[in-house]
Amino acid sequence: MRSEPLAIDDARARVLAAVRPLEAQDVPLAEALGRVLAEDVTATRDVPGFANSAMDGFAVRAGPAGRRLVLVDESRAGATATAAVGDGEAVRISTGAALPAGADAVLQLELVTEADGTVTLRDAVPPGRNVRHPGEDLRAGTVVLRAGATLGAAAVGVAAAAGRASVRCARVPTVAVLTTGDELVEPGAPLAPGQLHDSNGLTLAALVARAGGAVVHRARVPDSAEGTRAAIDRALAAADVLVLSGGVSVGPHDHVKGALAGLGVDEVFWRVALRPGKPTWFGTQGPTLVFGLPGNPVSAMVTFLLFARPAVAALQGAAAAAPRERAVLAEAIMRSADRDECVRVRVRDGRAEPTGPQGSHQLTSMLEADALAIVPRGETELAAGSEVELERI
Ligand code: AMP
Ligand code: MG
Repeated sequence: MRSEPLAIDDARARVLAAVRPLEAQDVPLAEALGRVLAEDVTATRDVPGFANSAMDGFAVRAGPAGRRLVLVDESRAGATATAAVGDGEAVRISTGAALPAGADAVLQLELVTEADGTVTLRDAVPPGRNVRHPGEDLRAGTVVLRAGATLGAAAVGVAAAAGRASVRCARVPTVAVLTTGDELVEPGAPLAPGQLHDSNGLTLAALVARAGGAVVHRARVPDSAEGTRAAIDRALAAADVLVLSGGVSVGPHDHVKGALAGLGVDEVFWRVALRPGKPTWFGTQGPTLVFGLPGNPVSAMVTFLLFARPAVAALQGAAAAAPRERAVLAEAIMRSADRDECVRVRVRDGRAEPTGPQGSHQLTSMLEADALAIVPRGETELAAGSEVELERI
């Protein structure tokens, strides 16, 4: 039975329905950048943990300008003053140092004249001036990071401040990348007539890394039934996700679908009503996800971004895709009658500007692109100024 090509959203929904989230593991914070949290992180104590100074200056009791106070001690970061601040007294204090007992404010250095063991305050000091209070950043008992969050630089610091040395994160999905085609040669190698450098292998591996996966196996595969089968068999054993490029159409030298069927990989769908990227194939073998992406370099990138990237995120329990944004087309686009088109665009001030020629073999169209504008199928051109949905890339 020949099924109709799926709409983009239906295809993605079927991919996500096949995802079995990976197990969690303890990850030291120093290795947690880019990982996806598998637990909520709760602050075990207030941060800051004690009232401290926001300025280098003098800890005092609140009061009017013009007071002359006797300097009785010093409070440094990590070494709190032992003396309390009484009436007529001040303690020298550094930024971040604990406010000494008796003081309720700090006057910064610049507003103080110091002489002979005394300080004269050249400004009034209301209670609380330049004081940071406990819990102003994190409050004990509150959730500061949520399961499903991808940890950025600030998040690893917040986890440390919250009292953690490690966090539970989803295991990193392992990914195998196979590029098929007798015409492909190693980047940098001399080209015989009709050959081309395998760019998909590198681009797909880069997309995997950006998506938070780890490429554990990469190979080029000849256009033969046996070669394709052997390469896929090996890759399936190596990874949670297998990404193939090329060989997935119906030509006499396209062996990917046949090899996958022979190895017991169950087809979930083949063909999406999408330009570029119609012959996209997706299937599963147990928990392993298999993407047969078209070989044209733009098609491979677009279909990875639409279908494989969300899967790599979902395997880790992260949001599969950012909400779609809206923008206005900067120029008219000739629509496809039966496929939704992903136009590579630059987004500037709410306007989506196509990046230039949009052939599926023109990888340079991805260079300046920061989003895919989804132009719905239709009979006529979509006029400049029309609103379209877009996905950031
Ligand atoms: P296919 O999907 O196998 O029919 O491939 C379509 C076209 O994409 C091929 O004719 C090549 O020009 C190109 N192509 C396929 N694989 C790659 C690759 N790994 N790197 C660059 N271009 C490729
Ligand atoms: Mg091919």
